[in-house]
Amino acid sequence: MIDAKLLALLACPACQGDVGLQGEKIVCRQCGRKYPILDGIPVLLVDSAEK
Ligand SMILES: [Zn+2]
Repeated sequence: MIDAKLLALLACPACQGDVGLQGEKIVCRQCGRKYPILDGIPVLLVDSAEK
């Protein structure tokens, strides 16, 4: 599980928007990209994002 404080420090690499947790993914509130979480580590790479 991702820590809420860690989540607050993260930003979308594509648009620098705020991100939130949605199920097993990190979702950008601004552009809607979804980033995977692998072994508890958010993978905030534009290349691994889903739109
Ligand atoms: Zn974004």
